[in-house]
Amino acid sequence: MELIDRIRGARLIGVLTGAGISTASGIPDYRGPDGVWTRTPSAVNAFTLENFMADAEVRREFWRSYTGHAAWRAEPNAAHRALAELDGSGAAVRVLTQNVDGLHQKAGLAARKVLELHGTMHTTRCTSCPVRLSTTEVLERGEDDPRCPECGGILKLDVVLFGQTLDGEVLGRARHVAAASEVFLAIGSSLQVEPAASLCTVAVRSGATLVIVNRDPTPYDEDADFVLREDIETVVPELCAAAEG
Ligand code: ZN
Repeated sequence: MELIDRIRGARLIGVLTGAGISTASGIPDYRGPDGVWTRTPSAVNAFTLENFMADAEVRREFWRSYTGHAAWRAEPNAAHRALAELDGSGAAVRVLTQNVDGLHQKAGLAARKVLELHGTMHTTRCTSCPVRLSTTEVLERGEDDPRCPECGGILKLDVVLFGQTLDGEVLGRARHVAAASEVFLAIGSSLQVEPAASLCTVAVRSGATLVIVNRDPTPYDEDADFVLREDIETVVPELCAAAEG
């Protein structure tokens, strides 16, 4: 199979992952039929950085939505594990993820090999001073609008909100990975959120083989060498196993 040969021959495999890789771990995606934004369209408008900073009710709603979040109990699935195992088996794997759930690292991929484009839910920062805390510890305090223990400032999860620009250093490193990859796998992303999605263009322009694995069509399908509309938890481990074998 030509695709397997290309993966097998690659020294660097860039992997862009979106919510679709974590749904099999029980974390709802945003745009799917059961997605957060499909069921609660107002959430899209509410969770901007501007609203978060200005409105205590938005902050309470935000913290509530994370208190019982499925991601706290989630375990990596077969796709996360297969990508972690693929790394170092001939090719180096670097994951650029739109997810904030930390499941690639939990599956065994070294933290330095995972670039979290939209941040992480596992840490929380003060918006007024350099304090950084574990989100679990903040949630255990049980406050509806938690404040910084040092300065009393507003605390915010390390996730990128609407209206907030991505971390320039992380994005720069992600573009570098995309440009250097020989194979670029986009897995479980609707590729509708920029600038993360345009990493596919960076990869293609630099000569990478672009492979899209997603349930639904994406705006980048016509740029792809291979489009797989198969179950992620099945097809990703199959691809990785074949590439290693
Ligand atoms: Zn502070």
